[in-house]
Amino acid sequence: MIETIYLERDVRDHFRSRQIIERFPDARVIECERYGEIFNRKAQDFRAQKLRPSLILAGKAGRFVLPAPAGYGVGGARHYYFSHMLNCLYDCRYCFLQGMYRSAHYVLFVNFEAFAEEIALTSNESDAETWFFSGYDCDSLALEPVTGFVSFMLERFPEHSKTFLELRTKSTQIRPLLGVAPRSNWVVAFSLSPDSVARALEHKAPSLVRRVAAMRRLQQAGWSVGLRIDPMVMYDGWESDYREFARWVFAQLDGSNLHSVSLGGFRAPKSFFEKMVRLYPAESLFAGPLVDNDGVIGYPSPMARQMSEFMIGELAGYVARERVFVCND
Ligand code: SF4
Repeated sequence: MIETIYLERDVRDHFRSRQIIERFPDARVIECERYGEIFNRKAQDFRAQKLRPSLILAGKAGRFVLPAPAGYGVGGARHYYFSHMLNCLYDCRYCFLQGMYRSAHYVLFVNFEAFAEEIALTSNESDAETWFFSGYDCDSLALEPVTGFVSFMLERFPEHSKTFLELRTKSTQIRPLLGVAPRSNWVVAFSLSPDSVARALEHKAPSLVRRVAAMRRLQQAGWSVGLRIDPMVMYDGWESDYREFARWVFAQLDGSNLHSVSLGGFRAPKSFFEKMVRLYPAESLFAGPLVDNDGVIGYPSPMARQMSEFMIGELAGYVARERVFVCND
């Protein structure tokens, strides 16, 4: 699956780089000074790279943990995110990463230990409930068999009762989690959409049925599971699809045992959106009805509110209202 691996000189001899390279004996390995030389190069063809992405192994420098954007939380006091990877195995048409990055290659930062250290330091700064979100610039589990990041975090993430980790994913790579005792301060949050939306927009991601089966297995094994219905998209017949979706999902899952649900309408920063449209000009999702809300392209506010209120109503019989969070920022 990986034909080319770019290897930053500083992590050439890192044990994790060596392990990963051994998994792809047929891949050509090309050394580089800094990953940005490859990843940030101008005039790259994102769509072509998405068909055959390379892997870039790099060492992260600077800040490892950053404050999460407004509206990203699920009720804690402090929210942070971190990205051990940039880019994703899947190819969702609404994904803002395609508007944010010049390249579709995967960047994997192999110095996991530095992430764990900064998470521990940030957690120790306060007694307030603190959340760390993984899966902002990638999918938390999709490349787990290659990266082993979640397995690493199972050993290293703080056990404090007020320090939480959210793994956000569409992946069914849950084996490392099923192999250990559930962590009471972890939430495995699955992004789901109605089947029609998933088929139309969430290319290469596991089907709705497979994702919900993974959630069910985790719930049965005692893991805390969350549901993310974000982004919601509007089209003729969206209400009946989202209603049927809620009914079907909660026929499979124990809603009373669900950690949280967050939801929000499709939105993207204007500059990212413009690039997304250039990549897929015929994509009907981008045709509207979308407006510029102070630099963020999304549904007009009354429409976004209508969507969230509709979904909150549909969830009412399954999930307590205080566990439902709306993220329209
Ligand atoms: S799963 Fe998430 S990160 Fe991956 S392409 Fe889809 S939206 Fe982007």
